[in-house]
Amino acid sequence: MGKRECVLVAAGTAALIPVLPSRADIPAGAREEQGKETPNILFIMTDDHSYQTISAYGHPLSALVPTPNIDRLAGEGMLFRSAYVENSISTPSRATLLTGLYSHQHGQRTLDRGFDTTKTVFPELLRQAGYQTAVIGKWHLPAAPHGFDHYSILHDQGDYYNPELLTPASGGMFVRCEGYATDIITDQSLEWLEGRDPTRPFCLMVHHKAPHRNWMPDIQYLDLIDEYSEIPVPDTLFDDYSTRGPAARTQEMTIARDMSLGYDLKVDRLHDTEEVPDWLKLSWRNSIERMTPSQRAAWDAYYEPLNDRFIDQELSGDDLTLWKYGRYISDYLKVIKSIDVQVGRLLDWLDANHLTENTLVVYTSDQGFYMGEHGWYDKRFMYEESFRTPLLARWPAVILPSSVCDGLVQNIDFAPTFLDAAGVEIPGQMEGLPLTGLMSGEKSDLRDELYYQYYDYPAVHQVRKHYGIRTKEFKLIHFYGQAQWPGHEDIDSREFYDMSADPHEVDNRYGDPEYAPIISRLEERLAAIREKLGNPL
Ligand code: CA
Repeated sequence: MGKRECVLVAAGTAALIPVLPSRADIPAGAREEQGKETPNILFIMTDDHSYQTISAYGHPLSALVPTPNIDRLAGEGMLFRSAYVENSISTPSRATLLTGLYSHQHGQRTLDRGFDTTKTVFPELLRQAGYQTAVIGKWHLPAAPHGFDHYSILHDQGDYYNPELLTPASGGMFVRCEGYATDIITDQSLEWLEGRDPTRPFCLMVHHKAPHRNWMPDIQYLDLIDEYSEIPVPDTLFDDYSTRGPAARTQEMTIARDMSLGYDLKVDRLHDTEEVPDWLKLSWRNSIERMTPSQRAAWDAYYEPLNDRFIDQELSGDDLTLWKYGRYISDYLKVIKSIDVQVGRLLDWLDANHLTENTLVVYTSDQGFYMGEHGWYDKRFMYEESFRTPLLARWPAVILPSSVCDGLVQNIDFAPTFLDAAGVEIPGQMEGLPLTGLMSGEKSDLRDELYYQYYDYPAVHQVRKHYGIRTKEFKLIHFYGQAQWPGHEDIDSREFYDMSADPHEVDNRYGDPEYAPIISRLEERLAAIREKLGNPL
């Protein structure tokens, strides 16, 4: 593959002030202490990747476009089946990853500003211990990358086609790179790996833009599947939310009502006339007009005949929802195909360079995503599909092949895990726990329950604030807060689910006498956790 062309453009000046200590800052002793046994860390995180679309998890959707390369990590390592986030949205999740803290502790509760940059981030500690560190891809934090020898980060959410990236060498400007984002991020990751100092361990964080909305596939995979393929439909696509509180009914993330035909579903001719917010119309034009003429020609040659067929059908009601679901899922799966192929390139590089045995490879997402469950796309809720996230880890020196872990783990655990793997002391203030004992098989569980809290309201999709507790068997959620959006009411609503009896969470049993003792225990436990955490709101 030839080197991609990247040109400097004024894509927006960097509102970031790079903080990059020089290599001379690394204590000489720390560099010399690094032995060959110190593992390399390759952390691959996608944006909004549902576990339902990774074949290792066995969901029927993943059979349509399998993920053999991501699955390698499960076959040669460990599949975590109970991995969760503490706040299901991008920017807080990224701050949690770096700090090992809950959102209210690192300050990044929502997509707005908030990150407390005085908090310790794990790459900084690895760097002090002699690691070479880099982050390439989506950053999405309101602060400069800190603790990295190198970074190449996307502008804001980033674009699928011909994205702009900022590097320490680009003089505060974002540089346009021609090509598809998932491939470019992988190319740059491999370039950095090739140019590293092979005598020292590395920690490389590969942060893909994909498969974030609006799910634009690479041209080479457009023909894989389409909305007329046989796509399994979730049991809850037409959920009526009848047992749930108001939050499930007043969200704005339904495929039927909120998913746009233009920006989300690529029916270009309808984007101008449909009733959607102006920012969606602008976003669609930006997505498509940034393509090169040849990319655009291939795109239109694929979509326009299918769009003609859709317009001729004049669908409405549930038929329209099913078509939208089919287009959404088929686009999403094609975006996943690129991720899987590019993960394969990184794993092949480790093999070719004899680094597989002693490299901890982690694949995860910044949270899960709805694939039509409850009629939804997007994330945010503590309901299972967005609260859970995929997590696979391979480290042949420590993890036995085809291992499975059902212990409750959470994204607060990443920072302590990487520090522990590297033999670096975990700072006392980090809330998370290292996963290393689970990986080696010494432990099967780390904790009895998980705490979750979502704060970003009012905001796009209008999901109400909530917090809750999940044990292996049960889930208790408390929605709270004043109404700040038309049609909403002040809310103080609790929901309780028996996860083994009701895995799809359609039967809220809060107030059911049968569950009263369990709910009471969970309420007490939740109050105790919240008190310990300072009762975040
Ligand atoms: Ca995300």
